[in-house]
Amino acid sequence: MIPPTLIRGGTVCLPDGPAPVDVLLEDGRIAAVGEALAAPAAAEVIDAGGLWLLPGMTDLHVHLDDRIGPWVLADTWTTGSAAALVEGITTLGGFVTQGPHETLAAAVDRAAAKAAGRSHCDYFWHLTPTRFDRAGWEEIAAQLRRGFRTFKFYTTYREAGLYTSYRELAEILKRLRDTGARSLVHCEDEDVLDEAANLHRATGSARDHALRRPVLAELTAVLQLIDIAAATGAPVHVVHVSTGAAAAAIARARERAPVTAETAPHYLFLDETLLKRADGYRWLCTPPLRPAAEASALRRAALVVAVDLFATDHCAYRRADKETGLRGLAWAPYGVAGVGALVPLVYRAFGDCPETGLPELAKYLALRPAQVAGLYPRKGAIQPGADADVVLVDGSGPERPIRSSVADTWETYPGMTTRLAVRAVWRRGRLVAGDGALLEPDAPGGECLCLK
Ligand SMILES: [Zn+2]
Repeated sequence: MIPPTLIRGGTVCLPDGPAPVDVLLEDGRIAAVGEALAAPAAAEVIDAGGLWLLPGMTDLHVHLDDRIGPWVLADTWTTGSAAALVEGITTLGGFVTQGPHETLAAAVDRAAAKAAGRSHCDYFWHLTPTRFDRAGWEEIAAQLRRGFRTFKFYTTYREAGLYTSYRELAEILKRLRDTGARSLVHCEDEDVLDEAANLHRATGSARDHALRRPVLAELTAVLQLIDIAAATGAPVHVVHVSTGAAAAAIARARERAPVTAETAPHYLFLDETLLKRADGYRWLCTPPLRPAAEASALRRAALVVAVDLFATDHCAYRRADKETGLRGLAWAPYGVAGVGALVPLVYRAFGDCPETGLPELAKYLALRPAQVAGLYPRKGAIQPGADADVVLVDGSGPERPIRSSVADTWETYPGMTTRLAVRAVWRRGRLVAGDGALLEPDAPGGECLCLK
């Protein structure tokens, strides 16, 4: 049993706006939110005056402890969640893909074994089933009964066995509509990619990746997906929107289709000029970094209504593995680190200003990811009954470097700094991190949120 904790006077984002209040954490839950709360016997009392208390944040798009092609990712659940937790991210969403000769249940067990007892954050997965015959659907139904709420589909990656045609996607979404599940979709149109690859032969420069996976591929697939969502009524979530063009299309579709979207900080803060550098291979990821004009259009769109939330698509490779990209696109691992940079960079996107920026963190990194992942109201807001995941922050702390990962990876944002200081992190009522360090580094206490 953890003794109750009363956090006094921190500024909390309440439905009517930010205000200094007391928050009582008890038995792993938020027991009360209000003014001048009485401290229960044996409660630890924390003075949070002058600081902000945010809900624990969620990165619903991370790749950890996985093998992609020949490469084993640099981050395990332990190192990836460590980088996340010290920044106030208390929940992570990963991915389970059903292998060609594997039941869905076996795929889930395989993923669960990697995370169990090893994650500092609470965690869940998005499911990618690859069988849709009668037995396949029975398996999907069984996983929904266990507590899975989200699926992930791809309109590309035919060679990896992940491709779903628009027609198949429409059929799948029609069947999923009444389950309450949401489908995450990687949107790049396979035909547009084929044409672009034909037009732009790889020359050895990392920039070729951007030419061969153009803006048009994302826009085309997003428009198709919007039509499918509108026709089927099934909720869809576009992952890693990388272009202002696609963000604008999503914004226009809000009224006619149940569509939500995320973007990742690397599409806001980096652009394809990096790919022209000799070490441009370090920033190879899919979708690719975009022309500067798309990045700035996306930045503007993200700050209005086009994007619901931010997530990282954290996919960190060891530095030596990333170096194989020097030999050309065909040998390159695609993905960049980002989970440790998410919170400071979203703060940066909203102007590095406590009064205006911190409420946006509560919305874009806590409330909406929890809603999209089906975790709200257990996660996502500081309100009675929710898990006691809370983060004490100072928006004007000393300048410090941004660090995407604690593993052996190339830094995605070299030289970038932040003044956002994460003073203390409670996960289900337990004080687990503060000032950049884990308090229990050898005892990862994250719980699985989707296996009943
Ligand atoms: Zn991803």
